[in-house]
Amino acid sequence: MTFWNSVSPAASPAIRRFASLLEPVEDGGLERMAWEASRVTRRHFGKAVRMFAPVYLSNECINSCTYCGFSRENAIVRVTLEVAQVVAEARHLKAQGFRSLLLVAGEHPKFVSHGYLEKCIAAVAAEVPSVALEVAPLETDDYRRMVGAGAEALVVYQETYDPEHYAQIHRAGPKKDYAWRLGCPERGYDAGFRRIGIGALFGLCPWRSEALALARHLEYLLKRCWKAQFTVALPRLRPCAGEFEPLHPMGDRDFTQLQCAFRLCFPQVGIVMSTREPARLRDALVPLGVTMMSAGSHTEPGGYTGQGKEALHHTVGGRQVALAEDRQGDGATEQFAIADERSPAEVAAALQRGGLEAVWKDWDPAIMGGGLL
Ligand code: SF4
Repeated sequence: MTFWNSVSPAASPAIRRFASLLEPVEDGGLERMAWEASRVTRRHFGKAVRMFAPVYLSNECINSCTYCGFSRENAIVRVTLEVAQVVAEARHLKAQGFRSLLLVAGEHPKFVSHGYLEKCIAAVAAEVPSVALEVAPLETDDYRRMVGAGAEALVVYQETYDPEHYAQIHRAGPKKDYAWRLGCPERGYDAGFRRIGIGALFGLCPWRSEALALARHLEYLLKRCWKAQFTVALPRLRPCAGEFEPLHPMGDRDFTQLQCAFRLCFPQVGIVMSTREPARLRDALVPLGVTMMSAGSHTEPGGYTGQGKEALHHTVGGRQVALAEDRQGDGATEQFAIADERSPAEVAAALQRGGLEAVWKDWDPAIMGGGLL
């Protein structure tokens, strides 16, 4: 039995429609989906595409995730930026136009403590109006402190919704706890995050069953956390240290169909597309449903300005050790290789040529009674 036949008759109309839209489709059917997805996107979001950039704070990690360059087993060059160095990265991005920054860090309580995260958030929130967080799962009270420090959005991807496969690819570390990760969006919502991003990493499991699980999670959260704005991301695996090969590669045609299905069944939900995808594909797919894009991204700490170079090291058993001689000219290792290497200005210009508009700022704490930046 194929998965779309296995959707429960008790599933909601939206989930049943979503499952039907994932069925194999002829070219003409996919073109009609794309046309309708584009129409729905313009109706709900106009021409606006919100721009953001990731700022990597640290590539230290105690987890062993087979698909990630930062996995503790990889002998990579690591560093955790000082708060002032994080600010330097943020200012560089601000000068390029960004007003929405996503702070990203691996999970390592020794180097990436909660106090450190709060300081980074507060320092970056003094520079730009919108700060999002993509870090290890936290307790509700800890999330509350992050919101208090100035973070307004939380991003947490389940990676795969298949519990058995999840156990196989998360070989060691706290991330092995599937349920703890699954509960993050709700804890974040209870703590006061106003925007929440969820997603799955495509390439780990068959894409249709993964997409269906993600849609079910999204539908549940839209009801449970009804005051929050939600986004979904559909990242596909990219090359990284450790040289993990996708077990279930997802082609561009399926990727297009998936994006259209999300747009048609969840018209009010934002869709994020990062620089994991190449320029030509991003330009083609953005009009069909994307509402948030990164541009000019670096996926290593200090990648924009060279901050942290003096503190580069390897980490072995939780201890920092000097770089091996043959690695001394290296910068910090990236989490994964990006595919769209255009500058933010080039991406904005491409959006404009396509009749869309790059929006750099759409939120200010003053709206909620904070100070204007
Ligand atoms: S995916 Fe996250 S938790 Fe896993 S190794 Fe990479 S940074 Fe660490």
